[in-house]
Amino acid sequence: MKPLCTLIVVLFVCITSFAQPPRIIILATGGTIAGEGASADRAAYTAGKVPIESLLKAVPGIEKIAAITGEQIANVGSQDMSIDIWLKLNKRINEIFANNEADGIVITHGTDTQEETAYFLNLSVRSGKPVVLTGSMRPSTAISADGPKNLYDAVTVAANTRSGGRGVMVVFNESIFDGRDVSKGSTTKVDAFRSPNLGPIGQVYDGKVIYYMNPIRKADKETPFDISTQKVLPKVGIAYMYADAEAGAINNFVKEGYKGIIIAGVGNGNFNKAFYDAIAAAVKKGLVVVRSSHVGSGRVTQFDEVDDKNLGTIVSDDLNPQKARILLMLGLTQTSNKDILQSYFFKY
Ligand code: ASP
Repeated sequence: MKPLCTLIVVLFVCITSFAQPPRIIILATGGTIAGEGASADRAAYTAGKVPIESLLKAVPGIEKIAAITGEQIANVGSQDMSIDIWLKLNKRINEIFANNEADGIVITHGTDTQEETAYFLNLSVRSGKPVVLTGSMRPSTAISADGPKNLYDAVTVAANTRSGGRGVMVVFNESIFDGRDVSKGSTTKVDAFRSPNLGPIGQVYDGKVIYYMNPIRKADKETPFDISTQKVLPKVGIAYMYADAEAGAINNFVKEGYKGIIIAGVGNGNFNKAFYDAIAAAVKKGLVVVRSSHVGSGRVTQFDEVDDKNLGTIVSDDLNPQKARILLMLGLTQTSNKDILQSYFFKY
């Protein structure tokens, strides 16, 4: 009799837990997805106006995919995204997963700096559970607004049991992108995101999620970047190289006490004599200088036209300048050893 009772209890627990819909928390930060215009003509609008509750009401059927709750973390156009908001997001996400409050998280976010937030969280979230960012190119009041579909797809991906362990992702226009490689590739089109080096890792269509690749450059539970007590991050600036550029930006970063500089170089992270001399002086003063490129895709390789050993620079691998800045800021919270920092660029 006793084993039979145990079996019935086990079956009951299994059935009721299978019946539970996945729990998804939406963390809203603003952006065009929460944008509002005076009319359906979308030429003029203000990003970050509409609260998360109203966004959810515009997505019919979303409540059937998951048990959803929303929290407003910020309400800004993502051109105003800040390290403060990043630290707040990181803290709340780590807390949600540590307390088992959700099975997945969706973040609504402006598109302008979405790639930066995705990579920041890819490096700093201490969990393998799904975290998905999305947004829109058209405000919620526009004809054919793309936000509701993107939000529906993002929740579909975050609620899918196969979405864990793939790092932080961006879901946009039916594609699933890895948070490390994804980059904004169009200023105005609804097909706004690309993975310039590796391509999207999957697709979401008709409520179904299909993966083709699994990103290996992610931090997950083993992240070395514990920023839970951090109130600020070490200052890192980006200096943009172009024909006949002067080195004012680099000199200014040194003067302002920055800890690191990313060079948005030409080609394979190259620069002219003015940059070379200013970089040499910055390195002598103890700043960490990373060579990246503004080409938009491809790797920056060591010891090519630039003698990194002699100059004391390190390279970004295939991270674009804005992503290299994030890794250097997080890296500098742990160490100022250039070999270790370089190893981060080859690992994450
Ligand atoms: N400027 C807006 C933002 O990044 C653009 C967008 O969301 O598409 O918040």
